[in-house]
Amino acid sequence: MLQLEIDSLSAIKFKLEIPMSINCPKCNSKTKPFNFEADLFFDRCEDCKGMWMDKGELASTSGSTNDFPDPNTITSGSPGTKNCPKCLGDIRLSEVLFMKANNILVDVCKRCEGIWLDSKELSQLQAILRTHRIEQKKKYFSGKS
Ligand SMILES: [Zn+2]
Ligand SMILES: [Zn+2]
Repeated sequence: MLQLEIDSLSAIKFKLEIPMSINCPKCNSKTKPFNFEADLFFDRCEDCKGMWMDKGELASTSGSTNDFPDPNTITSGSPGTKNCPKCLGDIRLSEVLFMKANNILVDVCKRCEGIWLDSKELSQLQAILRTHRIEQKKKYFSGKS
């Protein structure tokens, strides 16, 4: 009886924590949930180590409210060759400049606003978002005085 209870509990936990796996837009492998921190899970491809972030997830890793320093950039860019792993149908990810001041291109779905990141891009983008947030604060305070 006790064993049964433990089993059903862990089954529930398993269900809650594991996001539905998607196909990597780059190599088409199934993604696995990657525990980024605390209760943040991302879909990560085991082969290329790329990661899929739903809208708002990138922002949440850096204490921002917007995934992009300038949210208008999402509508720019032209469709590339990868398909959105979340949207049904052939929705292409657009290659969008993360920030005008640098040359980092990220793959964004204009429909669901999810982002596909290469393995090395996450830390770069987090750093940019954090710096951007500090600058915004400085502007805000200097504007007040
Ligand atoms: Zn991959
Ligand atoms: Zn999409």
